[in-house]
Amino acid sequence: MWEDNLEDTIAAISTPAGEGGIGIVRLSGQEALAIANRIFVGLDKKKPTDFKSYSMHYGKILDNHKIIDEVILTVMRGPKSYTRQDVVEINCHGGQLSLGKILELTLKHGCRLAHPGEFTKRAFLNGRIDLSQAEAVIDIIRAKTDSALKISLGQLSGSLSREINKIRQGLLDALVILEANIDFPEEGLPKQDLTEISLGLTEIDTQLSALLSSATGGKILREGLHVVICGKPNVGKSSLLNALLKKERSIVTPVAGTTRDTIEELIDIKGIPVRIVDTAGILKPRNLIEKKAVKLARRQISLADLVIILFDASNKLNHQDRKLIKEIKSKNAIAVINKIDLKSRIEKDQISKKFSKIVMLSARSGKNLSFLEDALYDFVYQGKILNPELILVSNLRHIQALRDARELVEQARVILADKLSIEFITQNLKDACVYLDKILGKNFSVDLLDRIFMDFCIGK
Ligand code: GDP
Repeated sequence: MWEDNLEDTIAAISTPAGEGGIGIVRLSGQEALAIANRIFVGLDKKKPTDFKSYSMHYGKILDNHKIIDEVILTVMRGPKSYTRQDVVEINCHGGQLSLGKILELTLKHGCRLAHPGEFTKRAFLNGRIDLSQAEAVIDIIRAKTDSALKISLGQLSGSLSREINKIRQGLLDALVILEANIDFPEEGLPKQDLTEISLGLTEIDTQLSALLSSATGGKILREGLHVVICGKPNVGKSSLLNALLKKERSIVTPVAGTTRDTIEELIDIKGIPVRIVDTAGILKPRNLIEKKAVKLARRQISLADLVIILFDASNKLNHQDRKLIKEIKSKNAIAVINKIDLKSRIEKDQISKKFSKIVMLSARSGKNLSFLEDALYDFVYQGKILNPELILVSNLRHIQALRDARELVEQARVILADKLSIEFITQNLKDACVYLDKILGKNFSVDLLDRIFMDFCIGK
C-alpha cells in the first residue's frame, strides 16, 4: 500500500520492456513542465513551459550538456490530459539504456517513480474517469480478442457507467417518495406513491437483471470459454488439441497415458476466446502420478463450461468410454468421433442417444475440424445473445455488486408488497445504491484501489 500524494510529479517508462522503435517516458504533475525545462533543449531554444498544449517538439535530452538522446517531446496541459494534471511525454529511441537514462534524469530533477497504474489512478482521483472506466483501461491492455476489446472500449467510454447511473437515479427517485412519507409510518404509503414506487422498483429490477444476464457472455468473452477435452487413452485428445492450435504443443504418442498433466491453451475461434484443456484420460490409475492426473482431469471437467468427449471411430465402445459418458452426464458436451480415416467400428447410434451434438472428424488429417469449430461457436451463441454491443458487464467485481444490489431491490419489492415498514424499504434501497456506487468508485476504500491498480503495469 502507498500514499496517494497527488502533489508529487511522477515519472515512468510507459512502453514495454525490451527493444522497440520508440520508447516513451511519461511525466505527470505540477512540476512536469518545469522538470522538462531542465533536461530538454529544443531547436529554437523554446522551453516546454512555453509550449502550447497538445504540441510536439523535436529536441535533445541533455544531462549536464551531454546529449542523452534525440527526442520528440509532447506537452498536454491539465486539466485536458490523461491525469488532469500537466503531462509530458518524451518519445525517445526505444532502447532500455536510453529510456533508463532519461527516466533517471527526470528523477534526479525532482520526479518520483510512479507506482503501477498511478497515472490511471490519478485520472480517477482527479475525477476524469470513474472506477469502472479505470478498470476498463487494464482490460483493454489485456484483451485477447476483438470482442473482449469492444466491451472494454465501451466501458471506458462510459457505457456501463451511464447504465448504472440510470438505475441509481431510479433508486433515488423512489427514496425521495419514501423519505417524504417516513414521518408518518403508521399511515403507510398513499396509494399513488405505492404504485409509483412499485413500478419504479420493477423497472430497476429489470434493468439490473438485463445487465446481469449479459454478464455470462461478458465473462466468456473476457476470460474465455473453458473447454475440456476428455476421452480414454489414445483416442486422439492431444492430436485434436494440436490440430486446433495448428501447432505442436502437447506430446502426441501412440503409448497410452502420456498426457499426465493437463495442458491448457487459449485459442481464438471466430472471435470467441476458448481456453482449451487436454486432460489425462480418466482410466484406472496404475500409480500415484496417474492418480493425481485423473484427479486433476475430474476437477477440470467439473469447472468446464463445455466438455468435448472424444471417441475412436476404429474401435467399439468399451467400458472406459461408458464410464466417461457417465462422468460427464451433467455437463454441456459435444461428442467427437475421431479417426474417421480408419475403418469404422464404433456404435454411432449409441453415442447419438447420449449426446445432442456429434462431430465426426480426423484430428490427424484435420478433416472436418471446422465442423467442431462451428459447433463450439454455435454452443456459445445458442439461445444467448452474445453480441459485444449488448454486453456491458464482464468484470467479476461489478457482477458481484450488481447481484447484491438486485437482491436488495428484490427484498424491497417483497416488503413493499407485504405493506411492511417504510424504513426497511428505504434502508434496502440506500444499501443498493451503495453497491452501485462501489462500481463507479464513489465510495472506494484504499484497499480496493490498491487491489485494482496493483494489476496495472508501471507507466499506465
Ligand atoms: P491421446 O492419448 O488421446 O492424447 O491420443 P494421441 O493424440 O496421443 O493419439 C494417439 C494415437 O492416435 C497417435 O498415434 C495419433 O497419431 C493417432 N491419431 C490421432 N488422431 C488420428 C486420426 O484422426 N486418424 C488416425 N488414423 N490416427 C489418429
